[in-house]
Amino acid sequence: MDNEQKTAGAGWIDRAILFEVVLACFGGLFVSTVAFLQQRFIIGLDSVPVQNFIAPFVVGGLLAATVAFFVRQSRRHLLDRLKVERETAEFHRDAHDELEISHQAVIETVLDGIITIDEIGTILTFNPAAENIFEVESDEVIGRNVKILMPEPYTSEHDGYLKAFRETGETKIIGGGREVMGLRSDGTEFPLALAVSEVLTGDKRMFAGVVRDITDRKQAERQKNEFISTVSHELRTPLTSIKGSLGLIKSGVVGELPDQFKSMLDIAYKNSDRLVLLINDILDMEKIEAGMMNFNMVPLDLSELVSQSLEANKGFADEYNVTFAVTELSPATRVRGDGDRLMQVLSNLLSNAAKFSPIGAQVDISVKSNDGNYRVSVSDYGPGIPDEFKDQIFNKFSQADASDTRQKNGTGLGLSISKSFVEKHGGIIGFNTKAGEGTTFYFDLPKYEDSNLATMPVSNVTGKESRILICEDEPDIEKLLEYMLRQGGFDTALAINAEQAKELLATEKFDAMTLDLILPGQDGISLIKELRQNPETRDLPILVISAKADKGRAELNGDAFGIIDWLEKPIDENVLTESLRNALQYSAESKPLILHIEDDSDVIHIVSAIVDDLADVTPAMTAKEAKQLLQERDFDLVILDLMLPDCQGEDLLPLLRRSDKSLIPVVVFSAREINGSVAENIQAALIKSQSSNEILMAAIRSSIEARRKP
Ligand code: ADP
Repeated sequence: MDNEQKTAGAGWIDRAILFEVVLACFGGLFVSTVAFLQQRFIIGLDSVPVQNFIAPFVVGGLLAATVAFFVRQSRRHLLDRLKVERETAEFHRDAHDELEISHQAVIETVLDGIITIDEIGTILTFNPAAENIFEVESDEVIGRNVKILMPEPYTSEHDGYLKAFRETGETKIIGGGREVMGLRSDGTEFPLALAVSEVLTGDKRMFAGVVRDITDRKQAERQKNEFISTVSHELRTPLTSIKGSLGLIKSGVVGELPDQFKSMLDIAYKNSDRLVLLINDILDMEKIEAGMMNFNMVPLDLSELVSQSLEANKGFADEYNVTFAVTELSPATRVRGDGDRLMQVLSNLLSNAAKFSPIGAQVDISVKSNDGNYRVSVSDYGPGIPDEFKDQIFNKFSQADASDTRQKNGTGLGLSISKSFVEKHGGIIGFNTKAGEGTTFYFDLPKYEDSNLATMPVSNVTGKESRILICEDEPDIEKLLEYMLRQGGFDTALAINAEQAKELLATEKFDAMTLDLILPGQDGISLIKELRQNPETRDLPILVISAKADKGRAELNGDAFGIIDWLEKPIDENVLTESLRNALQYSAESKPLILHIEDDSDVIHIVSAIVDDLADVTPAMTAKEAKQLLQERDFDLVILDLMLPDCQGEDLLPLLRRSDKSLIPVVVFSAREINGSVAENIQAALIKSQSSNEILMAAIRSSIEARRKP
């Protein structure tokens, strides 16, 4: 090649020199001819000497050679430039072709489907990956509307998107990715991730959609969620045993405990509670995500709900040493909602406000009308929410300062769950915050207008409360009793001596009374005797709470006069509420018989310990055993686990009858929630670990009570 170039170069130089010599000769000849003609005809010389030709020949030759030289040079430059331009153009063309080819190769081989559409949704291109994903040939879809690739409701939404975009330029799906459903040519639907971008070519606008089949990912997510759900459910049973046993030990059933042991027990109990909280939050979250969370929507009074929630969450205020103060409670705040779920939202906001308040601070709560909504606000004077955390606060497991929050007992799920709940009610949840000054969380629920509302009962979440008279003269114990009883769902009134107690009993109706034996003035024992003389109060259940309970019992010669329980101070919350429930149900009848169908022996043990005083419990660890027992005798109540080794608990429901064929009331007590239609004889469905000893007791008690009041 080099040689060729050299040869070509040498030839070119030779030709150029030859051309120049020839041109110089012609130039010389031309000028000398002109000189000859000039001398011969213009000057008139008869003969022109040869030497007169030499100078014109030389001058003409030089001139021609110079002209030829410049012509050659400029031609050479011109040729060089043309060559460079040609080479550059060739390079660009090659590069462009290569780019085209590689673009095409990427589009042809990429795993994501790439579909381009025009402004009205007509498919312009459809790559092979898209063909695979939608199982359709590109020829069959190009030129048709992209809607053929999606099922309802995406089909209708899509037209709306494009129309809105054409009219307003607003993009809802462009830029971000989202998960939608795709439609294959055989009619099957599948989940896909879609990211849309806008492409402008000249004055033409197109949209490029990148789609990915996420069936496998969704399947993996589902399996992960199922796994979490199974683990969480499985954890509920052992947790029930742990929490139940700790609760029983704490309540003193195994006797008085040394102080050091008590404080360790408290830690264990508190942490079992935390674990329960976490598991329940995780299961709630999983249910929300799977779309399985049911909402029982009924008309409610929001202000009333807030009042109930303040009562129920008083414990938080006390625990964190803050005061809940109502600044405004609009009357008749009708909304449509699920009381339990809304209580969960309120509890979360109130507990967060209490947790993040400085000691001794106030938390302000209000319910106000706000256009078409009612707004519930919970304001604290805490540290506020850091700017960098504001965007994430409603995300799952998000905590501003995890180390700090851990100390504050949080899961980071509360607000995320609250947000879903509020949104399911057609409402919004939000917050205003200022660093160092405090935070207001609020949620708005649409007002519920219904013409029938005046006659419609406002649902009461906690149900009817029993009213208890507390007769106690020590202010600290009074406060404690009041708190414990309210926590236990009782309404209370206070008497600080026997006189006041008698007065209140004469004017108001009470379901039971707690009594200290050592009172100023008339003492407890003589008060009991007096009350038993009076027909009005003869049957009033009395619960003696005294530092000298035993002594009191002896003084009454063992004749309890309808006294249900004798509690030594210090008082234990569980025992107290349990005993009172006992008191309210007191009956001289023989102990009822409970059949407990449950395959976990620890749970059997705990349940019989809890209901020991109330009923005789016969356990059955399999459905077969249960059927056998049902044939042998009549039971007053069945406590049923749904997850049995030999069948599903639900399958036993139709068989739970007495010899006279009447249905036996059932309390479902299982780690799994009951699904489908609940049979008519189910009195209560309790979830293991979510239900405290008292709740279980109450459910069993009311079931037995129902039996006694035909
Ligand atoms: P947690 O169970 O941890 O309280 P939440 O979802 O209820 O979970 O709250 C998430 C996080 O939001 C908290 O850990 C805390 O960092 C922050 N947060 C919530 N409420 C408040 C508040 N009133 N003041 C300051 N920070 C708050």
